Order: sequence, then C-alpha cells, then structure tokens
Amino acid sequence: MALKIRRKPTRAVRVGPIQIGGGAPIAVQSMAATRTQDVDATVRQVNLIAEAGADLVRIAVDSKKDVDALAEVRARTTATLSVDLQENYRLVALVAPHVDKVRYNPGHLHHHEREKAVRDKVAFIAEQAVRHNVALRVGVNCGSVDPEKTAKFGADDVGAMVESALEHAQMLDDLGFTRYVVSLKDSAWRKVVEGNRRFAAARPDVPLHLGVTEAGIPPEGVIKTRIAFEQLLAEGIGDTIRVSLTLPFEQKGEEVRAGRQIIEDVYAGRFRSVPEAFDRGLNIISCPSCSRVENEAFVDLAHDVKRMAAYAKDHDVTIAVMGCRVNGPGETDAADIGLWCGPTGVNLKRGPELVGHFPYDVVLERTKQLLDEVIASSGAARVRAGP
Ligand code: SF4
Repeated sequence: MALKIRRKPTRAVRVGPIQIGGGAPIAVQSMAATRTQDVDATVRQVNLIAEAGADLVRIAVDSKKDVDALAEVRARTTATLSVDLQENYRLVALVAPHVDKVRYNPGHLHHHEREKAVRDKVAFIAEQAVRHNVALRVGVNCGSVDPEKTAKFGADDVGAMVESALEHAQMLDDLGFTRYVVSLKDSAWRKVVEGNRRFAAARPDVPLHLGVTEAGIPPEGVIKTRIAFEQLLAEGIGDTIRVSLTLPFEQKGEEVRAGRQIIEDVYAGRFRSVPEAFDRGLNIISCPSCSRVENEAFVDLAHDVKRMAAYAKDHDVTIAVMGCRVNGPGETDAADIGLWCGPTGVNLKRGPELVGHFPYDVVLERTKQLLDEVIASSGAARVRAGP
C-alpha cells in the first residue's frame, strides 16, 4: 500500500537545471571514482553515472591540475556537476566557474591558514558561490568533525556532528547566503538517522542530502543505506540522496539505480523489517572510492577482505577499508581493523594504532592474522551460534 509521506517544507535550492528541496522530487546523485586528471576516464564515468539516471554527479578536486582537468570534463559532458573540496578551500574560486554546486566539509577548514577564523573562510566560499552562481553543500562527516566540537562533545559524536552543521548553516544565513543544503553522514546507519532527525528538528527549512558513508560492497552496503533512508524518507526528511558503494568502474551506475529503488519502495510502502541484531556480527565498511584513490588495486582489495573475513561473520568485528590518505587515517580509527591504501602499499591498523605498512600482495594475509588476534581477544564477542 502506498505511503502518504509529508515531506518537510524545506526551501528550494537551485543547482543548475535541477531544484533540491522546496517540494521538488528527491534528487539522486553519485560521484566519479576516477582520477580527475584522467579526463577521458572521468568523462566516461560521469556520463555512465548520468545515463544511469543521476541528477547530479560529483567530482573531487584537490589541486590546480585537477581544476584544469575539471574544466575539460565540464566541456565534454552535459551532466550537472558538483565538486568536493578538501582542505584547500581557496580552490573554490577556481572550481566554481565550472560546476553547479560545491561541497565543503566544515571539519576540513582547520587544516590550512590556521590563524584565520573559520567564519572568514566560510565567507570566502559563500562569496565565490554568489559570484559564480553556484549552490553549496555543508557536508559534515561524523568521522572528520571539527576538533573543537569533538573536544566539547566527547563520546557524543552525533552531537558534535549536528552542532557543526547547525553552526555552519547559521554562518551562511548570517552572510545572507541561503542557497545551500546540508548533509550529516557516518558509516553507521543509526548515527545517520539520529543526526539527520536532530538537524531536521532544529532547522526544518534547510534541505538535507542523505547518505551513509563508506557503506561498502553490495548487497550489505545497499542494505545499510536502505535502513537509514527508510526511516528518514518515511518521516519526510531528505531532499537528495547518495548511495555510496565500493564498485568497479563499469558498475558505478548501480549507486543511482539502488537509490531510485529505495525511494520507489519507501513511497510504495515496501519496507524491510530490521531485526534487533541486524547490525551485530562482522561489519565491513569500505569507501565508495573517488579520484583520490591512491592505487586502483583498492576495489579488489576491499572485495578480497570481504571474502577472506567471511569466516568471522558471527563476531562483532568492524573492518574498515579506505582508498586514500585524505580520509583513510581518520575514518579507520574507530574500526577494530583498518586498512588505508597508499600508492605502493597499505597501512594496516588495529584501532587507532598502526600495525605496519604492507605491500598489496602481502596485506591480505597480514589482515587475516590480525583478524584472528582480534577474535581471540575479548573485544570480539561471538554474537550467535553458527550452523
Ligand atoms: S577514503 Fe579517500 S578514496 Fe575513499 S572516497 Fe574517501 S576521499 Fe575518496
């Protein structure tokens, strides 16, 4: 039976030819996982994602060379484009002329020009957005939240994430800039649901971009995302979505198809029940990859780790596999076992401690040894009896 969903009355944000919020259909987006400077591959992937039905395609830009490549990509595709800024927020002045939306992460505004107030950096970003007629996304990630908020909130990382998002929304409002959306993401679906609920209660006017980061490999990655989106979309929260999956190049359109299927199912009243112990047992987190991936062997490694670790399915162990040094070190800290990829080798961690740096052809075996050690320790309780 179709569900009567009352969407939150958010304000309309124009992003090139599309509208996010203000009652517009929920926009579905995805992100290119190619090296931005490989213009042919990036154009091919942007078009593949757009042809799969994406309303918006995001590209990562970290350097001046990436900006030059972005300009070429822009000239060779008609897709609506968004860019992900990392630490170098000043690049916004160079990327904004080529795209329709720019995402910045409040947690990354502390790395460059430390003496400069964050408010002034946000003012610079907003000024460039106005000058080049683009929308913004305040993209807060629970794993890389502003250090001051982390210190203030301690174990309440969702509280830190929500306050950071509220603070930046207020900063933009104070600047008279209202053409923005907000996202509050984490790899744990419960935190995504809680964070978005809390933000929507405080700022029902701001359009929300929903996503579960590093959801991993299908089908588990789609299931985690579906659970979060079912809760939020059914409450009328969410104006645009992204499903983040670790997929080979040719299958990247699957993120868009999965997103559309979830929206269709929620609106048709087709929900999956969520057993109490759903997220107990082995949990593999892996990033969806993007242009920053340091070695293309990352996607195979993530799948190999999943296959190798299958024997531990009944143990409460989280393994995080990340593609690069930008988010890899921080996003693996909370996992029992973390792998983050470098150009020639992989950094293997147990919790926040580095175990070592291993070549790609050795790290799987070393990860298996570490997994055995973690299971043998008291921190990885067996959660259910196996058959
Ligand atoms: S961890 Fe690195 S490679 Fe993976 S999606 Fe995040 S930024 Fe991209």
